[in-house]
Amino acid sequence: MIKVNIKRYILYLARWQLSTPILALVLILLSTTNRWTATIIANLIGGLIFFWVDRYIFTTDTLAAQWEIKENIKCTDCNSVSRGYRLVKSENYDMTGDKLPKFRCEKCSKKKTEILKKRGIKIK
Ligand SMILES: [Zn+2]
Repeated sequence: MIKVNIKRYILYLARWQLSTPILALVLILLSTTNRWTATIIANLIGGLIFFWVDRYIFTTDTLAAQWEIKENIKCTDCNSVSRGYRLVKSENYDMTGDKLPKFRCEKCSKKKTEILKKRGIKIK
């Protein structure tokens, strides 16, 4: 069972992509120096920048909605077997103690999310 905040995870993956041009640029600029030295400097620069970005990603409350993802579940709504999602917790919704958690396929999960939003549940 994996509990992942999807938004944080996607943001984190996008953040890794942002480090690509920085690393590439430093390696190009330092192409005449030793490869190991250039890589160490590139990673140092990346670390100086992305420490703050990562800290934001993992601590900001604006990404607080928590989702649980499970493989090979039977969707509560359409009975299809696929990767399943369920909202566990958001700013004003808490199903962390749910003894019979309902998982939905991606398509049904999006529909359910819209229903919850209409009910005033904050899902960022
Ligand atoms: Zn479904």
